Amino acid sequence: MSDYRLVAREHGGPEVIIAEPIVAGPVADGMARIRHTAIGVNFIDTYHRTGLYPLPLPAPLGVEAAGVVEELGHGVEGLRIGQRVGYAVGQTGSYASWQDVPAARLIAIPDSISDQEAAAILLKGLTAETLIFGCARIAAGQSALVLAAAGGMGRILVQWLAALGVRVIAHAGSPAKAAIATGLGADIALHCPFDELAPAVRKATDGHGVDVVFDGVGAASWTASLDSLRRRGLMISFGNASGPVPPVSPLELTGRGSLFLTRPRLFDYVFERAELEASAARLFAAVEAGKVTIEIGLKRPLGEAAEVHRLLEARQTTGSVVLIP
Ligand code: NDP
Repeated sequence: MSDYRLVAREHGGPEVIIAEPIVAGPVADGMARIRHTAIGVNFIDTYHRTGLYPLPLPAPLGVEAAGVVEELGHGVEGLRIGQRVGYAVGQTGSYASWQDVPAARLIAIPDSISDQEAAAILLKGLTAETLIFGCARIAAGQSALVLAAAGGMGRILVQWLAALGVRVIAHAGSPAKAAIATGLGADIALHCPFDELAPAVRKATDGHGVDVVFDGVGAASWTASLDSLRRRGLMISFGNASGPVPPVSPLELTGRGSLFLTRPRLFDYVFERAELEASAARLFAAVEAGKVTIEIGLKRPLGEAAEVHRLLEARQTTGSVVLIP
């Protein structure tokens, strides 16, 4: 098959992912055709596949890629053919040889960052920027608990928070992953079962708990995360890697010390073009300053996406995962 895309033919396990040929037509007004060179894999791709976040079927998979501008529709300004760009917000279908993307969603990739690095960092890095500066507004001297700390999002959060002077308590699913978190700057890295996590966090914080929890694990860690917060602490629940959090009563927040809860998604923080540009600029500056390093833990051909989903869902990956078309 020459040019193709991967779709979920129905909602289900990795076996529902199939390839379909794609044929190039004219590029619509305001759009740019991006020939992909590297595709970022994100946990949200599994939600689109399973139907946790339902899309019309067949569901085009993938939300992030880097590549080269191949063709421009009418009315597009500020982009040129051959330019290196990436995208990570507002559109599915990046598991493909190429895709047409709204020009307003494209981000120019700096010379210092390769296409594969861009595909590894854009969505997760923009999200980390949003969670740290948009949601947590956390400062040096405060404390944070980061779950799945050796994963794609986690390793960016740990590094960036540590660079800001935040005291980071990391949690990961194994001793080897916890050691990765320590190497990234975590003050303490735990790998206990979730039901032992809150007591361990309290012990490490003189009984108080942390100021902020960054939780992308979801259902499995929900109670542990809430119980790890100090009075008036902030719970940032940003994902469902272990399944979605069940319905919550506001009184659960009251009883634990007047907690704050937010359930953010990146899209709402980079909805305006200016917000997207500002977030990307801060991310690239952090990478260029060495505050955030890019780790591609797994790189596979695009055609192996189903196997890659199996590994991601089985907690077998660390760092970012990239597919090469
Ligand atoms: P990760 O690389 O972090 O992989 C998920 C990790 O979650 C696993 O490696 C594992 O780490 C941990 N985990 C714990 N329990 C389970 C379980 N039962 N099944 C699977 N994983 C489990 O993925 P990403 O970096 O792509 O995404 C991390 C989270 O961030 C996801 O929930 C994702 O949806 C969310 N996200 C949200 C965004 C938003 O806009 N709100 C944007 C981007 C990502 P360990 O073994 O160490 O516990």
